[in-house]
Amino acid sequence: MVKIRNAEFVKSGVELSQYPQEDISEIAFAGRSNVGKSSLLNKLVRRKKLARVSKQPGRTQTINFFMVNEQFMLVDLPGYGFARVPISVKKQWGKMIEEYLSKREQLRGVVLLLDIRHKPTEDDNQMVQWLVVNNIPVILVATKADKVAKGKRQRQLSLIKRTLELPAQQLVIEFSADTGEGKELLLQGISELLSEGL
Ligand code: GDP
Repeated sequence: MVKIRNAEFVKSGVELSQYPQEDISEIAFAGRSNVGKSSLLNKLVRRKKLARVSKQPGRTQTINFFMVNEQFMLVDLPGYGFARVPISVKKQWGKMIEEYLSKREQLRGVVLLLDIRHKPTEDDNQMVQWLVVNNIPVILVATKADKVAKGKRQRQLSLIKRTLELPAQQLVIEFSADTGEGKELLLQGISELLSEGL
């Protein structure tokens, strides 16, 4: 299983020509603004500030690449669904994310983050359907699990699966950046995506 020994920021970009040239497998992270993506990435790599925890949701507008163990890349996609962003900017982000997901040969899979407390939005739904249609392997993660009592989590997970029209047996990893819960399962999932690419 993948063990993250070190992680370094490599570069940011907004179009294919600006992304790293190396033929190194990539795992991308997607989700709505404020879903806890930066916190999850930082927890995963055991660094406090590798990915910037956003004070202003939706501020990160580039795709950011982080090299892990000189072995694979974690790719931080811009958070989507932030209401107060002008339509023109939203369209631009959509295009950037879609181009990355559909054309990036290094991509091995996507970790899609959903807030365990909330019903998935139309944006989440579109993202899942789009990944399915394009045959991109996806790992689903329910973030901020510490905010929901253990006894109430199944209800939330069912709501998520039902809304996204996923089978009841679909794995959704319960994750907390605060407690570290779910980290091992997530790393296991990432390892599988990476080895499938071999
Ligand atoms: P991003 O916009 O998706 O990168 O989300 P951030 O990582 O910036 O997190 C948004 C907010 O949720 C911040 O205030 C975080 O402290 C909080 N947060 C993120 N993950 C967790 C978690 O696992 N548990 C709790 N309690 N709060 C979290």
